[in-house]
Amino acid sequence: MTAASPPLLERYRDLIAGEGESFPISLGEGGTPLIRARRLGGEIGIEHLYLKFEGANPTGSFKDRGMVLAVNRALGAGALAVVCASTGNTSASAAAYAAAAGLPCHVILPAGKVARGKLAQALAAGARLIMVDGNFDAALTAVRRLGEEGLAVVVNSINPDRLTGQQTAAFEIVDALGTAPDALALPVGNAGNITAYWRGFRAYADAGRTPDGKLPRMLGFQAEGAAPIVRGEPIEAPETVATAIRIGNPASWQWAVEARDQSGGLIEAVSDEEILDAQRLIVRLEGVFCEPASAAGVAGVRRLAAERRIGPGETVVCVLTGHGLKDPDAVQAEEGSLTPIPPDLGAIRDAMQLYVRRE
Ligand SMILES: *Cc1c(COP(=O)(O)O)cnc(C)c1O
Repeated sequence: MTAASPPLLERYRDLIAGEGESFPISLGEGGTPLIRARRLGGEIGIEHLYLKFEGANPTGSFKDRGMVLAVNRALGAGALAVVCASTGNTSASAAAYAAAAGLPCHVILPAGKVARGKLAQALAAGARLIMVDGNFDAALTAVRRLGEEGLAVVVNSINPDRLTGQQTAAFEIVDALGTAPDALALPVGNAGNITAYWRGFRAYADAGRTPDGKLPRMLGFQAEGAAPIVRGEPIEAPETVATAIRIGNPASWQWAVEARDQSGGLIEAVSDEEILDAQRLIVRLEGVFCEPASAAGVAGVRRLAAERRIGPGETVVCVLTGHGLKDPDAVQAEEGSLTPIPPDLGAIRDAMQLYVRRE
């Protein structure tokens, strides 16, 4: 996006805003690249594979698309503060938009397991962090109550403005491809995003803005240790390296199921190993560095393509939901590559040859 292009909410105003509504806050969200992934597509056997890189949003995740609408509306409604429960990216986004709006931001975090980069973002923007000795689902339960008491506006995806704003990613994909893809793959945590994409594709088609009215199959992927929708029951103690989808009882569960069924899609589980393999493959073949959770869609598509459940000629978009820099600890250093050597040319040359030989 160039500086001159209108803010996201203005670009799609007719589909998401009320008449005469104004949006003073924008950080330049949306307008993220849809990258043709030729090498990755070749590796997994899909010719028309695209990556929607949501890590290019202002705070490094898709959460900004909905947060910009939620915070503008909270500000317009005279809110005194905003509050959210978060596995990390919601708090990073809420903290930034609340700062821009001049509103206090309270964040309830589950103890441990929040990626370092996300915590740094919320702290830097002056959010008030409260860590609870419980999981995300417990934190969200508390936040719902705070919202009901009217102490602050809840900016989790149970706030409908979040899902409305997140629909814009589907609009952008249709605008970029000229129609909807055959399939859209993405990670599923609290299940707001799969809900928003499906609503977005439908709304765009209903408004006559998808030329042939096409709708994609929605392919959602949960982590094996946090797969309540796949298993059909809440998970008491969800576990996965993909902390952004470490959720045992998704708030938008029923809508995710609706998106799956109405679109003729699926929601399946991928292992942590498949997720980390996919994360590595994406950045090594395409140069696009996403966080572990974001790779779940590619991990799932890779398996479906191998099993011939996606045809090689289909157009598939994988949503990379967040930036890799958010969770640097998830990247394993190559053995020996960070052991210092003497700073002379000979030693360095030797080391480089060693490295070349190892390739
Ligand atoms: C929030 C988030 C998800 C999960 O999205 P839901 O709407 O909760 O299903 C996936 N990946 C990243 C990077 C996220 O921040």
